[in-house]
Amino acid sequence: MLFFNQKKTFRGGIHPNTYKELTEDLSFEIMPPPKQVIIPLSQHTGKPAKPLINKGTKVKTGELIAEQDGYISANIHSSVTGKVIKISSAVNVNGFIKESIFIETDENEEFCKMPSLNIEAITAEEIKTRIKDAGIVGLGGAAFPAYVKLSPPDKKIDYVILNGCECEPYLTRDYRLMIERTDDIISGLKLIMKAVNASKGIIGIEDNKIEAINKLKKALSNYSDISIIPLKTKYPQGAEKMLIKAVINREVPPGKLPFDVGCIIHNIGTTISIYDAISKGEPQITAAITVSGKGINKPKNLIARVGTPLIDIINFCGGIKSNTKKIIVGGPMMGIAQYDLSAPVTKATSGILVLNDEEVTNFKETNCLRCGKCVEVCPLNLIPTRLARLTQFKKYEDAKNLGITVCMECGTCTYNCPANIPLVQWIRLGKQKAMSIIS
Ligand code: SF4
Ligand code: SF4
Repeated sequence: MLFFNQKKTFRGGIHPNTYKELTEDLSFEIMPPPKQVIIPLSQHTGKPAKPLINKGTKVKTGELIAEQDGYISANIHSSVTGKVIKISSAVNVNGFIKESIFIETDENEEFCKMPSLNIEAITAEEIKTRIKDAGIVGLGGAAFPAYVKLSPPDKKIDYVILNGCECEPYLTRDYRLMIERTDDIISGLKLIMKAVNASKGIIGIEDNKIEAINKLKKALSNYSDISIIPLKTKYPQGAEKMLIKAVINREVPPGKLPFDVGCIIHNIGTTISIYDAISKGEPQITAAITVSGKGINKPKNLIARVGTPLIDIINFCGGIKSNTKKIIVGGPMMGIAQYDLSAPVTKATSGILVLNDEEVTNFKETNCLRCGKCVEVCPLNLIPTRLARLTQFKKYEDAKNLGITVCMECGTCTYNCPANIPLVQWIRLGKQKAMSIIS
């Protein structure tokens, strides 16, 4: 096994306080099914799934209730046993209203699993088919259907890279998974390597996760084809392009994808879902979530059923403190502030942060100082101040020429701006306009 002592990283980035101490030593707890789940038909990149059930249908836990529609879409399974009470619009954690299946939970749970498959004898095609059938989506943010990622068009894949960085502050779910399910992650990685015929696997982990690095290192002592690479603790170390640059020193050109430079990236949680789907026949019906922040009474790492309303999770964690200011789904850098706690967790929900008045500051924006600090930290070498300015002046074509559509909306520039200019918010707006107006 290869093990590199040097701390690899990428250019730019920031190092915000991590606040991981709130939950990093807390083992996963399993939350019982809530009284009702609200399962959105769209919890992945691509077309919403097509419902296969109607109002009144009785369903079992793990039963297919909506099927993928088109190539980029994903199957959805019931996360509880119960009765479908309606298919209707509901607010989701991204702030949009989405068609969703409401299921009232029955106390007597019955499971409906797929047959287990032999992880040694399985073929590449069987792996991809099972991942597709199980409705597995990437858990790193965009919720891209996993089987599509594993079917690169005529590309030779040299490396499968697992993203063990978890560079967003507060979140500790991937760290806990690496500690609690070490061997399953390695088996999942081997399955992904087989699916894309890659000869090498790499797990990139930020160097603040010592226990995870040590556990994986020990478990990998008999594997010559998988390496662990400790990386400098820095945000956004877990962004795909940054990770690839740091671990194999390849650059993904603008508009291209990891497979264009011979690699596939998967998240730690996705890898476990793949292992569970193949070895245990389990579809993706739970989400591993960090519930943290100084505003929650009992921070936890939690396994919750997909479709559980945020309010039920918050109550399971002891409720919120009176000085709570903001609730965010995801990490504080890229997550989304919530306005309705009836929104349900989805397959890709990574965290629920309940922040109090110490953790939330209202900044006063001032004029740009032309200090260049936003340019210094942008990992993609963009000029955030100029992109924001061009958006303010509605010069979307100029912004596009300067690379606005490449921005990954990491928020690093905004974090580093002494004038408190909401750069990423302007850039996000400009990016949407540039993509919709200019072909
Ligand atoms: S949000 Fe965009 S412009 Fe700002 S640092 Fe990240 S990639 Fe660069
Ligand atoms: S960091 Fe803020 S103040 Fe400095 S150049 Fe960028 S936008 Fe202007």
